[in-house]
Amino acid sequence: MSNGIRLVLLGRQGAGKGTQAVRLADHYDVPHISTGDMLRAAVKDGTEFGLKAKAVMDAGGLVSDEIMVGVVHERLHQADATSRGYILDGFPRTEAQARALAEITADSPLEVVLNLEVPEAVVVERITKRRVCRSCGRIYSVDSPPAKDWICDTDGGDVVQRDDDTEDAVRKRLELYAAETLPLVAFYSEAGQLVDVDGLGSADEVFDRVVEGISARRAG
Ligand code: ADP
Repeated sequence: MSNGIRLVLLGRQGAGKGTQAVRLADHYDVPHISTGDMLRAAVKDGTEFGLKAKAVMDAGGLVSDEIMVGVVHERLHQADATSRGYILDGFPRTEAQARALAEITADSPLEVVLNLEVPEAVVVERITKRRVCRSCGRIYSVDSPPAKDWICDTDGGDVVQRDDDTEDAVRKRLELYAAETLPLVAFYSEAGQLVDVDGLGSADEVFDRVVEGISARRAG
């Protein structure tokens, strides 16, 4: 078995973070920790927190740093993550979250921050075509649907468009990405932790590049 990994994925909405995160989690045998998936699970459970988060998410806004830092802190301290590591997807999204993450991981620092690069014009088209399994989160596209009637190939769940993949919410999320999250690329680059990967091409092609980039970083 491989040694696991402690990795953060950066990239704008629609860059393919979720798709690559699932493959990376399988490859390195570590949990895929997606803050978006965790929030959507809370929404589905109908908790008070979930309802509040849903309003923010549907408008394309960001849930507060304080709440997100608490959620991630708790998750990274669970046994699977402390023993083997994790693929962290959707966090950090602001400089405050990045600083908090450095504290959370002080004893066991991040090994790689992977930046998946895809131009804005490309991601807008990808997001509007994106469809997601309501129960397991598997990602499809109108160009590559499940085998049967928008029923998930993995678990038979309904495959639908996300409530926050509307044009308005997407535009707002991309603006927030540019303002709040893009500065983290420079932050991690200065810290010597960044690996840039071209996110254009098929999911398989991108995955090969990603694993190569990670191996080169770990070797060097
Ligand atoms: P995307 O990257 O396509 O916007 P995600 O599934 O990662 O999708 O996140 C969906 C929504 O969940 C975000 O638009 C935001 O409202 C909320 N969210 C997820 N992660 C964070 C975070 N680290 N900080 C604040 N809000 C978050």
